[in-house]
Amino acid sequence: MITVLSGGTGTPKLIRGLRQILRDNEISVIVNTAEDIHISGHYVSPDIDTVTYLFSGYLNTDTWWGVRGDSFETYHAMEKLGYKEILPLGDKDRATNIARTAYLNSGLTLTEATKKITDGYGIFAKILPMSNQGVTTYVVCEDGSLMHYQEYWVGKRGNVPIKGIVRKTSDDSPLTATPEVISAIEESDGVIIGPSNPVTSIGPILECDGVREALKNKFCVAVSPFIGNRPVSGPAAALMKAWGYESTSYGTWQVYKDVVDMFIQDTSDTIEVPKANRLDTMMTNEKKAESLAWDILSFFPR
Ligand code: GDP
Repeated sequence: MITVLSGGTGTPKLIRGLRQILRDNEISVIVNTAEDIHISGHYVSPDIDTVTYLFSGYLNTDTWWGVRGDSFETYHAMEKLGYKEILPLGDKDRATNIARTAYLNSGLTLTEATKKITDGYGIFAKILPMSNQGVTTYVVCEDGSLMHYQEYWVGKRGNVPIKGIVRKTSDDSPLTATPEVISAIEESDGVIIGPSNPVTSIGPILECDGVREALKNKFCVAVSPFIGNRPVSGPAAALMKAWGYESTSYGTWQVYKDVVDMFIQDTSDTIEVPKANRLDTMMTNEKKAESLAWDILSFFPR
């Protein structure tokens, strides 16, 4: 059993490769929920849905979100009424979000609601929200005000100067991992921290009480999302700087160094990370993702 810590783009690419080697029931994925947001009354969990659609075979792998070939009838119908959603939800994608919201309103936890949905899609992998608590990543703007990460990245395209990162639970209680998350780590042969955004995807998972302690007792490999001082895609550079870290693979290693046994950076990375291994981490297609997955698994203790 392999456990993977994931956001919604870089790590799902690696999981696509892992699925060519392992059976789905040998994979557990602990997924970030700090980007979750309410849209039009729906509880939207973008990273959980990307991982869910990946395993169900529905994922749009051009964008790494939403359902391939989805229609946007509802979204456009609402647009005509003068109402524009911050994230355009496709119709099938909306169905997932409506079902999840109904499950949560009926009293299920996010873990239970996710299980219902992944069972519905016939998925054999374990897809586990990192926590059942409501938690949000905010960026701190120059004037000190807080902005939801989705508003910063999707709404403003990251074109806002920021000076900090804040994580808040909805009831201000300490952020805690679910028992299922801790068991998944404990029962696995090893853990992969995929090449996701350290600030908004992996950081929140590591901040869940109990996760770092569980990882310290496991073989753990992390893959850098940075090559040199640039992430492969997305806003990780500005976010790392605002978080107080170097926006490089070295900065990423600093976030992870207390829990990882092996850090993997790209062969073309000019930054030196102490004792790192180097592999081709650019997953430009499924074959390259599979090849990276093989290389990573070959490091695992037998
Ligand atoms: P989000 O939830 O959509 O922000 O996605 P993630 O946090 O899972 O992934 C975003 C990160 O994936 C970015 O920081 C990218 O640099 C990284 N990334 C995307 N594709 C690749 C790739 O092929 N290789 C590597 N090494 N990193 C990648």
